[in-house]
Amino acid sequence: MDQPPTTRIRVHGASVKTILIVEDNEDNRLIYSQYLTHGGFRVLEATNGAEGIEVTRRERPDIVLMDISMPIMDGLTATRALKADADLRAIPVIALTAHAMASDEAMAREAGCDGYISKPVMPKDVRAEVERWIGAP
Ligand code: MN
Repeated sequence: MDQPPTTRIRVHGASVKTILIVEDNEDNRLIYSQYLTHGGFRVLEATNGAEGIEVTRRERPDIVLMDISMPIMDGLTATRALKADADLRAIPVIALTAHAMASDEAMAREAGCDGYISKPVMPKDVRAEVERWIGAP
C-alpha cells in the first residue's frame, strides 16, 4: 500500500505536462481526472481553493482547472492569490463552473482567470481547452 496522503491529493500517470484540477465535487473531479489521465496528462487534484494554491506552489502545474464554488476557499479567491504571486501568475487558470450567467464569466476574468468553461461540459471539451493552452501531453 502507498502511504496515506496527508491531503486529498492524488497523482496519476507520469507524463510531463501536468494539470491541476481544483474541484470539490468528487464525481466531476474523477471524470475529468480519469479522462485527462487516459489522454496522457499527469493530473493532480485538490478539493478547495486553499489546497489548490498549496499544490500549485509545490508542483507548478502547467495549467489549473479551477471550480468556483468550493468550501474553505472559493475559486475566485484562489485565482486572485495565484495571479498576485509573481512566480505563479504565468500558469493559465481556467474557470470551470456550473454558473452559466455572463456575469459569472466576467467575475472569473476579473479575478484573473485566463479562460472560462461552464459546466456541464464533456470531458473531451475540457481536454480541447487544456490543449489550446498547453498543447498535447
Ligand atoms: Mn463546486
